[in-house]
Amino acid sequence: MSNRICKHIQAIEELKQPKEHVCEECIKVGGRWVHLRTCQTCGVTLCCDSSPAQHASKHAYETGHAVVISAEPGERWLWCYADEQMVDY
Ligand SMILES: [Zn+2]
Ligand SMILES: [Zn+2]
Ligand SMILES: [Zn+2]
Repeated sequence: MSNRICKHIQAIEELKQPKEHVCEECIKVGGRWVHLRTCQTCGVTLCCDSSPAQHASKHAYETGHAVVISAEPGERWLWCYADEQMVDY
């Protein structure tokens, strides 16, 4: 059962790609980020858990928007915060 894909990822029909390669929260306050993730529920692009502010995971916990994709060029994977599951696409 290890390759079972969670319901959040299964529910995605079309991937939301990043509109801009910036963290939309960090940029408001002059913060810095390491990597970017794009929320697959609302399309916001935010910073990863290696970044000081960890905006993407905060967004997921506050809103319940479970799934992000990597917004990094060349990376093609989804991550579900609720199930801690990564799936390549
Ligand atoms: Zn899930
Ligand atoms: Zn950020
Ligand atoms: Zn969202």
